[in-house]
Amino acid sequence: MPVEKNNKSPIKPPRIRQFGGSFLLLLTILLLLNFIVPSFGARSPQVAYSDFITAVEAGKVDKAIVGSSRIEYSIPTQTPDGKPASQVFQTTPVAYDLDLPKILREHNVQFAAPQPDQNGWIGTLISWVVPPLIFIAIWGFFLNRQGGGAAALTVGKSKARISSDGSTGVKFTDVAGVDEAKVELEEIVDFLKNADKYTRLGAKIPKGALLVGPPGTGKTLLAKAIAGEAGVPFFSISGSEFIELFVGVGAARVRDLFEQAKKQAPCIVFIDELDALGKSRGGAGGFVGGNDEREQTLNQLLTEMDGFDANTGVIIIAATNRPEVLDPALRRPGRFDRQVVVDRPDKIGREAILNVHARNVKLAEDVNLATIAIRTPGFAGADLANLVNEAALLAARQNREAVIMADFNEAIERLIAGLEKRSRVLNETEKKTVAYHEVGHAIIGALMPGAGKVEKISVVPRGIGALGYTIQMPEEDRFLMVEDEIRGRIATLLGGRSAEEIVFGKVSTGAGDDIQKATDMAERYVTVYGMSDKLGPVAFEKTQQQFIEGYSNPRRSISPKVAEEIDREMKQIVDNAHHIALTILQDNRDLLEETAEELLQREVLEGVELRERLARAKAPSELNEWLRSGKVSEDKPLMQHVLN
Ligand code: ADP
Ligand code: MG
Ligand code: ZN
Repeated sequence: MPVEKNNKSPIKPPRIRQFGGSFLLLLTILLLLNFIVPSFGARSPQVAYSDFITAVEAGKVDKAIVGSSRIEYSIPTQTPDGKPASQVFQTTPVAYDLDLPKILREHNVQFAAPQPDQNGWIGTLISWVVPPLIFIAIWGFFLNRQGGGAAALTVGKSKARISSDGSTGVKFTDVAGVDEAKVELEEIVDFLKNADKYTRLGAKIPKGALLVGPPGTGKTLLAKAIAGEAGVPFFSISGSEFIELFVGVGAARVRDLFEQAKKQAPCIVFIDELDALGKSRGGAGGFVGGNDEREQTLNQLLTEMDGFDANTGVIIIAATNRPEVLDPALRRPGRFDRQVVVDRPDKIGREAILNVHARNVKLAEDVNLATIAIRTPGFAGADLANLVNEAALLAARQNREAVIMADFNEAIERLIAGLEKRSRVLNETEKKTVAYHEVGHAIIGALMPGAGKVEKISVVPRGIGALGYTIQMPEEDRFLMVEDEIRGRIATLLGGRSAEEIVFGKVSTGAGDDIQKATDMAERYVTVYGMSDKLGPVAFEKTQQQFIEGYSNPRRSISPKVAEEIDREMKQIVDNAHHIALTILQDNRDLLEETAEELLQREVLEGVELRERLARAKAPSELNEWLRSGKVSEDKPLMQHVLN
C-alpha cells in the first residue's frame, strides 16, 4: 500500500506578488547593507580631541588619517617581545580647528586624507534609485485605488469597444419608424458584405455616413443594429471619449483607432455624439484660447478620413443631434458622403415603434396602439419606449393581469405633464383661480383652428410647476403652422389669464409661463417667419448655424428704428390676441362659470362630456376677421385689463 505523501499544505504560502511588496524588501536590504558594512572594520578606541592634540604635541603620534568626520591616528609602541607595533586611536575632529595641519606638520606627523569610502556606491545607489521608486510606488497605489490600473499607461490608446458581429443583440427589426434611414444603412451593410459587386463596376464605396436627428430617435440603436447585421467587426466610441485632460491625447486616440480599424478591415467604426469633438473650429463664441485639444482631435480625424482609400473596407458612421454645430469640413463629400436623417416618427412610425416595444408586454384587449400613436405626436422612439414601460409599471402597481388602455393614457399624461402631485394642496381661492384659468384656455382653444380637440382639463397639480393643465390633442401630425394658427395659439395661451381678469378682476402669477410662450411666439411670428405686414418677409434672427459661427447676438444688425418697429409689432400681435380672448370669454361668460364650477367639483373633465360642453362656445363676430388678418376692428377700444 503506497504511503500518501502529504505535500499539500492546506494553506498556500502567500506570494509577494505586489510590486509594493518586493520594493519594500529591496529597500530594507539596501539600508541594512549601508549600515552594517562600515562596522565590519574593527573599532579602535575613541579619545577626546584634546587628548589627540596633546599626544601630537608630545611627539607621540607618527601617522594620522584625517577625515572630515573622523581622525584615526597611531602611536608607535612595542610588543612585549620587543617588536615594533602601533596602537590605533580615533577621535572626532573639531571643524573650526584650522591650525590642525600646521600642528601636525610641526611635529612631523605623517598625515593623509582617508581613502574614498569603499561602500559609498551603495549610498549613491540608494540616493538615486529610491526616490523614483517611492514615487512610482505611490503612483501605482493611487492608480490601483481608482481601479483603472492600466489607464494611465494607455493614455494614447483609443477606447473603442469592439463588438464582433451580432454581439450587440440588436437587429434591424428592433428599429422601427425610420424606414428611409434603414434602407440607406442596409445598403452600407451590403457594401461591406459584397464589396466586389460594387468595386467591379468602378464604384467607390462611401467612406462615411452621418446619422442626423433629434435625441432619442434611434441613432445609436441603428448603429447597434448595423453591428448586429453586418457580420464585420464594429468599433464603437463616443465623441467625448476622445477628449481628455491632456492636449494631444485625442489626436493620438484617433490615430490609434484608425490603425486598428485598418488592420481589421472590412469593419465599421461608429463615432457617437460626433458634435462633442466635431464642433466648428474657431467660432463657438470665441472663448479665450479656444479649445486646442478638440481642434487637434478634429484635425486628426479629418486627416485620417482623407488618408485611407475608399475601398479599404473601413466605413465610418457617426451620429449627432446637432448637425448645425459640426465643422463644415466634416460634412463635405469624401468624408461623410452621406447624411442619413433619422427623424421623429410619423403616426405610422410611432405605431410600429410601439409594436416593437410592446412585444414583451402583456396587453389587454382594449389596447389600441394605433390610437396611442395618434395621441403622441412629437414623441421620439425613446419617448415611446418609455411610455410603454411606464404603462406596464402602472399596471403592475395595480396588480393587473395585463396593461389596459387607461394605463397608457395615464402614462401619456405623465410624460407630457409630469407626475400627479396631490400632495400639493391649494387653498380655496387658488383652486378657484386655477379652475377658471384652465377653463379659459379650453374655451379659447376649442374655437381656434388647427390646434386639435381639447381632451382634458384638470386642476390636479402635476410635475414641477403646473397647478392645473389643459391637454389639447391634434388629430393628425402637423408639419407646418399657418399664420392664423399661430394667432390662435397665442390667443389660447392668453385665455387662462383673460379668464382670471374677467372673473376676478386681477391676474395671478400662474399665467407667467403662458405669457412667456405667447411672447416668444409673437416674436418668431415677426422675426423668423416674416408674417408681419409692416415688416414683411425679412428675417431678423440669424440661423443657428450663423449664430454658432461666432456671432454673439442672434439678432441681425438692425437700426434702432427697426428694433422699435419689431417691438411694436410684437406687442400689437399679443394685444390683439388678448383682446380676442377677452371678447370670446365675455361672450361665453355663462359657459365659463358653469364649466369652472363643475371642474372644481370633479377636479378633472375630459372626453366626450368635455367636448360637448365646449361645443356650446359661441364665436364672436370679430373672430373671423382677426383670424384672417390679425387685425381687430379699430372702432371698438382694445379690451385690456377689463376690470381695473
Ligand atoms: P439616439 O438617437 O439619441 O441615439 P437611441 O438610439 O439611444 O437614441 O434611442 C434610445 C432608446 O429609444 C433605444 O434604446 C430604443 O429603446 C428606443 N428607440 C429609439 N428610437 C427607436 C426606434 N426607431 N425604434 C425602436 N426603438 C427606438
Ligand atoms: Mg445616441
Ligand atoms: Zn395657463
